[in-house]
Amino acid sequence: MNYQVDEKGFYGEFGGAYIPEILYATVKNLQEHYLPIIESQEFKDEYHALLRDYVGRPSPLYYAGRMSERYGCQLYLKREDLNHTGAHKINNTVGQILLAKKMGKTRIIAETGAGQHGVATATVCALMGMKCEVFMGATDVERQHTNVERMKMLGAEVHPVRTGNMTLSDACSEAIRDWCCHPSDTFYIVGSTMGPHPYPDLVARMQSVISEEIKWQLQEKVGRDYPDYLIACIGGGSNAAGTIYHYMDDERVRIVLAEAGGHGWDTDYTAATIHRGTTGILHGAKMLVMQDDDGQIQEAFTISAGLDYPGVGPMHCNMARQGRTQVLSINDDEAIYGGYELTRMEGIIPAIESAHAIAALSKLTFKQDDVVVLTVSGRGDKDVETYLKNKQMAKEYGNF
Ligand SMILES: *Cc1c(COP(=O)(O)O)cnc(C)c1O
Repeated sequence: MNYQVDEKGFYGEFGGAYIPEILYATVKNLQEHYLPIIESQEFKDEYHALLRDYVGRPSPLYYAGRMSERYGCQLYLKREDLNHTGAHKINNTVGQILLAKKMGKTRIIAETGAGQHGVATATVCALMGMKCEVFMGATDVERQHTNVERMKMLGAEVHPVRTGNMTLSDACSEAIRDWCCHPSDTFYIVGSTMGPHPYPDLVARMQSVISEEIKWQLQEKVGRDYPDYLIACIGGGSNAAGTIYHYMDDERVRIVLAEAGGHGWDTDYTAATIHRGTTGILHGAKMLVMQDDDGQIQEAFTISAGLDYPGVGPMHCNMARQGRTQVLSINDDEAIYGGYELTRMEGIIPAIESAHAIAALSKLTFKQDDVVVLTVSGRGDKDVETYLKNKQMAKEYGNF
């Protein structure tokens, strides 16, 4: 079994590069150069030095004692929440900006939904002294005001997008439109394992540092370099891709991914793309997308801004279709409960996205000595208001 991208940019039937003709040369150039550059010693040295000294890696692999007892397993948390800027996204933006520089690009663009990828991009642009423009749905600009201010403080220009629902999906379309107008000097830093080939593979490789570290950290802590379970939340799929990258072909490892159910995957208010989606083309790739019978993209709905996307990366579409991954739909109330649970049991406030992964624990049956590694993709400082506002949801289950 091989779940990696093929030479044409496909994962099974998913992936590829469905782009306007004006981008052909630019994307082809990227397809031809990304591997030689990121596999060069010079790149690796710079990338790993920044991950260590700027991002703060390796991120700890923490044995969660009280949660282990609660769920009857050996639970380890991969602490991406402790990275600079508070999530895994910086692993990717650090790598892509180095690649952009080596390809002679001078202007950076990015899309953002909740603003986390926008902040991670604006951060590395400040670090490298590069011009940064971020596209963000006008609705999100209002909802995520603090992140807009962070981006501006970091020197980025934020363009509110007023087409469609004025959210992430529209911001992606607008970033691609801008890219079409400036293909020669502009590098588009894509925020997840989506977009035209080679982006899904590029982003997965940049995030693969997560499972590279899990391997040696597990070896140190439990005496073997693989877990019985890997658990991560999935929006576009980048923290999940990083978590599973070095274990995809290792059948000893069960992979469980938590997508955002919203009010329920079988309602109209959901972002559970793998449960609900059908094959379509969105933002340059063939993937599972939520669409109506006429192929119109349906708006995603979830309490978690970072999982609010009507598509999911092609690598994950293929792995789910092949039965390699088990995908659970976690509803808003279950995620809120998971967030409170980790906070009160371990003193770690997770991002509401990561709380979806926590909530998956209660849907699985473990053996006492099962080694479970769960990625906490980000910290919950940004979500404190959401947690407090929705505390009622968690009360249905427990007493916090
Ligand atoms: C953006 C984000 C996600 C979802 O993105 P993926 O590409 O699926 O990882 C998950 N967690 C956090 C904290 C995020 O900021």
